[in-house]
Amino acid sequence: MKKERLNKVIDKLKENNFIVKVVKDEKEAESCVLKLMPKNSSVSMGGSVTLNNTELLKKFREEYNFFERFLQPDWESTVNVMRESLLSDFLVTSTNAITENGELLQIDSGGNRVAGMAYGPKNVIVVCGVNKIVKNRQEGYERLYYVGPLNSKRLKHNTPCNFTGKCENCSTHMRMCNFVSIIRDGKRPFGNVIVILIEKEIGY
Ligand code: SF4
Repeated sequence: MKKERLNKVIDKLKENNFIVKVVKDEKEAESCVLKLMPKNSSVSMGGSVTLNNTELLKKFREEYNFFERFLQPDWESTVNVMRESLLSDFLVTSTNAITENGELLQIDSGGNRVAGMAYGPKNVIVVCGVNKIVKNRQEGYERLYYVGPLNSKRLKHNTPCNFTGKCENCSTHMRMCNFVSIIRDGKRPFGNVIVILIEKEIGY
């Protein structure tokens, strides 16, 4: 990515009250996240290919009060943890698109990620690669519906796009894209949203 384009996005994000940190790779992103989080604080994590490329999940389980939603015995317990995690000290997640105007766009099946990014957790840290940068909202929406089928396949949701590889505009129970959110401003009651931008292509 051209430096001027990246700088423009960073400036716009800052104008919109996001705190921005730029790192070169996943390892640096990981230490940047951990430095921001006092040990033993409570943390929830959004499902994310980007974050799965780091050791953060392991660290959260070992050194923090982690809202463990990934290893619950059944869906009801998973949903209960997701509800409780809306009161965490930190939500660490990724986003699906960042516009050149400095907005974050995300798509969600259950809604817990878009809910937590909007309200609840005291602090929100967003980790993402520069490949998520798009020109505008229109390009962002296109990116969201490119991501839907990929997530459907990854999470084995029984949706048409899992099999065809493209959005079929379904209305199935396990739809990947029930919730779409735009965060236009990073202001929050306890501290603004922190965006850690990794200067490489990672996740989707
Ligand atoms: S609407 Fe259905 S087919 Fe389209 S991306 Fe969402 S889950 Fe897949």
